[in-house]
Parts: sequence; C-alpha cells; structure tokens
Amino acid sequence: MTESAGKVNLLGLTQPQLEQFFESIGEKRFRAGQVMKWIHHFGVDDFDAMSNIGKALRDKLKARAEVRGPEIVSEDISSDGTRKWVVRVASGSCVETVYIPQGGRGTLCVSSQAGCALDCSFCSTGKQGFNSDLTAAEVIGQVWIANKSFGTVPAKIDRAVTNVVMMGMGEPLLNFDNVVAAMHIMMDDLGYGISKRKVTLSTSGVVPMIDKLAQEIDVSLALSLHAPNDELRNQLVPINKKYPLAVLLPACRRYIEGLGEKRFLTIEYTLLKDVNDQPEHAAQMIELLRDVPCKINLIPFNPFPFSGYERPSNNAIRRFQDLLHKAGHNVTVRTTRGDDIDAACGQLVGQVMDRTRRSERYIAVRQLNGDSDVPRSANRT
Ligand code: SAH
Ligand code: SF4
Repeated sequence: MTESAGKVNLLGLTQPQLEQFFESIGEKRFRAGQVMKWIHHFGVDDFDAMSNIGKALRDKLKARAEVRGPEIVSEDISSDGTRKWVVRVASGSCVETVYIPQGGRGTLCVSSQAGCALDCSFCSTGKQGFNSDLTAAEVIGQVWIANKSFGTVPAKIDRAVTNVVMMGMGEPLLNFDNVVAAMHIMMDDLGYGISKRKVTLSTSGVVPMIDKLAQEIDVSLALSLHAPNDELRNQLVPINKKYPLAVLLPACRRYIEGLGEKRFLTIEYTLLKDVNDQPEHAAQMIELLRDVPCKINLIPFNPFPFSGYERPSNNAIRRFQDLLHKAGHNVTVRTTRGDDIDAACGQLVGQVMDRTRRSERYIAVRQLNGDSDVPRSANRT
C-alpha cells in the first residue's frame, strides 16, 4: 500500500486490498466496493463527496487515507483528437500518457516506469536510463486522469478509455507487482470494467516475468520483437542477450496457450531503414513465427534527435507488409497519431530527474567522435 504522511492512498488498491484496509480500521469489507465506485466510476477524490458513507466514517477516512492521483504537469490536445498528459510521479520525474481515439474506441497508452533500464537502441525512453518504478496508484492514476478529463460519467459504458496498452514509458514486467495491481483495477467492474482482451501488456522480453504473469492475471500480451534473429536483436534490444529468441518465443507461446481460448500474441516490430526492413528480414520473421498464433503490428520508426536511425520509405514499409501478408499473417501498420504534440511511440520522453544522464554521455561521445550534426549545446535527446 502506498502511503504519504502516514495516509494510505486508496487509488492504487485492488478490491481485496481495499477490503483488507477497511478491516484493518475496524470497518465492514463491503465499504471497499462503495469507495471503489466513487473513486473509479465517478473520479471522486474527496471523501466528503461520498454521499452513501456516513460522516463518522468519512472523518475516519480523512484522517487515515487519501485518494491522490499523479500531479498533472501539462495536457495537450492534438488536432486529431489525441491527448497527451505529462504527469509528475513521487520520485519527482515526469512520465507521459497518451489517449488515442479511433472510431468508437479510446485507447490509453500508459507508462509503468520513469525512464527504462533496458536501453533499446532506437527508444528515446531507453536513452534516459532508469529513474523509478511507478506505484500502483501512479499507474492506475493515468486511467483515472484520462477518464476525468472527459468529464466524470456515471455509467461505465460511456467511459472515454475503452482499451489500455502498457506501451508508454518503461518496461512493465520490471515493475511487476504495481503493474499487475493496476491492471486488476482496470478489469474489475468496480474499477474500469475493461475486458481482458482490451488490456495489453507490451514487453521487450523479460522471460521469467512472462511465466509469472500467466500465474497472476489474464491480459493480452504484446512482444516487442524488432528483429528476426539473435545477432540483430542483441544490438537493438539488449535484453535479448540474456533471453534470446529460442527461450523468448516459447515463453510467449506458453502464455498465449495458457489463456485457454483462442487468443493471439501481438508482435510489435519497429521498422528501421536499412537495419531490419529488408526482404531477408521478412523471410526470417515468417520462419520464426511459423508456429506462433500472432498478429503483427509494424511501427514505422518515430525519429528523435541523434537517434542515428531513419524511418523507411512508404514503399519499403509496404513491401515488408506485403511479404508477411502473403505468408498468411495478419499485419497492420501503426499510423502515427498526435504528431503535433510528440505523442508517438518512442517519442515519450517525460523528464527524468537524477537520470543516469545517458543521453548526455551519448551526445558527448558522439561529439568526441567528431559527429558534426551534434550541436555543442545539445544536452538531451
Ligand atoms: N517497454 C515495453 C513497452 C513500451 S515501448 C516494450 O518495449 O515493449 C512501446 C513500443 O514502442 C515498443 O514496441 C517499443 O519498442 C516501440 N518503440 C520504442 N521507440 C520507438 C521509436 N522511436 N519508434 C517506434 N517505435 C518505438
Ligand atoms: Fe525500455 Fe521498451 Fe524503450 Fe526498450 S523499447 S528501452 S524496453 S521502454
């Protein structure tokens, strides 16, 4: 349970945890359901507004507990309806949350950590290094903030957020307990009532945690593949050196098969010009994924300063898609949304306090190497 100044933050508690909390203060367990509805269905953070709770209990709650979302630093709305929030978390760092409306759906891209330790070569979050894990309240707080920004709606069917993807900043499986607790609240009818198929966790491949996830929760899984062989994947996604493809893909298959009904693994593949976008890569990918029930999502690289990578041409993207499609794969290309507010995948930078300053080191090294396109004044990616 997260506490500040001795107060328990009820925002991040699952139903069983909230029941335990009420028991611990000498109250009935059913209070948990009442309070969860106020918090998550109605977006309430003031105990005095909880009208079906008597004054004595409200006073007791005020003394011992709080409902505190992460602090909103900014909210931007793109011309295409995409919204982006920068929120400050307890460590002082900022993370980003992005809402993407599409047809009747509203997908929220949620962050799990401030920064990321895994250092994928094409990811701006990775370039910042790791700063802190988000608490469960800070993870679910992003869903809470997004729904509230559309006005508090009493009926859950009208909620703005219909889908959640753990594809913001950070590696969700390395903040396991908090992310799993938040996902339970997302799916709980007393929380956001989102179906298990519409909550997706994306991982770069922390194999032992994929098996652990299967034991704790049933959500959709996305794998950030990005390369069809170990040699290339070791360069792009360094955690591959620890958990290579031969152990990673069976772990994903075990997870999907363990769900016990027809479900698919989502494969994310960021296309990098002349690095992983050639016909030979498509051919290797077809071979690699032969026995994996999956849908493939191609993400054209979203550039950021000094990344060293480029986005492939539209023709190259289409050629890659066609090759996979002809082999019988369901392949989509992720369109870039929220361009005018820097809300695309891999452009989420936030602002990490006390970061490892990897981006500065990275630029400094390039300057030492005589890279002329690196301005002397540049101090962050
Ligand atoms: N850490 C998790 C989830 C967050 S990243 C993971 O790696 O899966 C969400 C997706 O965006 C991942 O597939 C990631 O590899 C991809 N991504 C990161 N940087 C990108 C960039 N600059 N352009 C396009 N996609 C990027
Ligand atoms: Fe971390 Fe994912 Fe970025 Fe890799 S792609 S550095 S795992 S956030």
